[in-house]
Amino acid sequence: SAYLDLRHISKTYAQTRVLDDVNLQAAEGELVTLLGPSGCGKSTLLRCIAGLTDLDGGSITLRQKDLTQLPPRAREVGMVFQSYALFPNLTAGENVEYGLRMNGQSKRERAKRAEALLALVDLEAKRDAYPHQLSGGQQQRIALARSLAVEPKLLLLDEPLSALDAQIRKNLRTEIREIQKRLNMTTLFVTHDQEEALTMSDRVCIMNRGKIVQQGDPETIYTKP
Ligand code: ADP
Ligand code: ADP
Repeated sequence: SAYLDLRHISKTYAQTRVLDDVNLQAAEGELVTLLGPSGCGKSTLLRCIAGLTDLDGGSITLRQKDLTQLPPRAREVGMVFQSYALFPNLTAGENVEYGLRMNGQSKRERAKRAEALLALVDLEAKRDAYPHQLSGGQQQRIALARSLAVEPKLLLLDEPLSALDAQIRKNLRTEIREIQKRLNMTTLFVTHDQEEALTMSDRVCIMNRGKIVQQGDPETIYTKP
């Protein structure tokens, strides 16, 4: 079966069916974008995969493991949100190390690993800066480095660029795509921005009202009859 395999996912809030029989597969190393209007269920789907929200029905398999049976921390999934969510009283380096601390590495190993992650997002020079001393784009790069610290098997990006200015968004888009390719990191990328979806993905899934209504590679998805 696929590296990531979502089958018949459903979720209802009150009377509203927010996810309605969602089926989605991703191959190892693939970046799949979920594109759709606000409120169509994109965040809810990512939250279900990460274990932050319970499903009503369906299955989630990652590398043949049933994620729904595992607590969030055991799922080996990294997540970056729209708002930065860095710890304000920790430095950039400490924010990145926070992810590592959980893995029981020595202090020295952690420092070395944090340095490598800061280098990956090109922010070695900001190791000792606090979040408020960083630009929005820099904060999102730190958030990305922190999410990669746990060596996730799947990366979930929930509109990570939406709060940023247009030019920064474009640059960071390219940067995230390069890092994702270099690490061969299987990634689900949520956006409501069509251009973003078309320029950075291997495959685009269009969502509407809790359903994936169409999918394909970015070159052909809009030209198919
Ligand atoms: P998107 O990420 O596509 O903007 P969401 O997954 O955030 O969509 O939300 C999908 C729908 O589910 C929206 O109508 C939203 O208001 C609703 N919703 C999300 N979270 C909750 C919740 N915790 N309780 C009730 N309704 C929710
Ligand atoms: P976004 O569109 O950025 O995902 P939302 O405004 O949809 O943000 O959701 C923000 C938070 O509020 C989420 O934790 C979501 O689960 C919750 N939420 C969203 N809609 C509702 C709702 N109708 N009732 C209760 N909680 C909700």
